[in-house]
Amino acid sequence: MSSETIFTKIINREIPADIVYEDEQALAFRDINPQAPFHVLVIPKTAIATINDVTAENAHLVGHLYVVAAKLAKEHGFAEDGYRVVMNCNDHGGQTVYHLHLHVLAGKEMGWPPY
Ligand code: ADP
Repeated sequence: MSSETIFTKIINREIPADIVYEDEQALAFRDINPQAPFHVLVIPKTAIATINDVTAENAHLVGHLYVVAAKLAKEHGFAEDGYRVVMNCNDHGGQTVYHLHLHVLAGKEMGWPPY
C-alpha cells in the first residue's frame, strides 16, 4: 500500500496549506475543517500510516510531534487555559487520512467523553 496521502502533497507543496510551523522532521498546518478556534495538524515528514505503525525506531519522531504541539500551543497563548491533542487510529478512532497526525485543538473548553 502506498504511504502517499494528501498530506504528502502538502509536504511537497503540491497543494496549498496554511503552514504554521516547519522543521526537518515535522510540518504543522491549519486544519481545513476546524473543530475549534485553533485547530492545527502536526505531521511527520516521513509518512507513518497509523499509531499501529509506531515502533521503537520511529518513536523519537512521534515524540517530536508532541514537542511541536506544545511549542505551538504556548506560542499561540493556549498553554495556561489548556488545549487538547488527539491522534485518531483507523475506523473506530475516526481516522480518515492515513498519514500520522496530531490534532491540536484550542480556544474553547472541550467536552469529554469524545463521542
Ligand atoms: P477526521 O477526518 O475524522 O478528523 P483524521 O483524524 O484522519 O480524521 O483527521 C484528518 C484531518 O485532516 C481532518 O480534520 C480534515 O479536516 C483534515 N484535512 C483533510 N484534508 C486537509 C487539507 N487539504 N488541509 C488541511 N487539513 C485537511
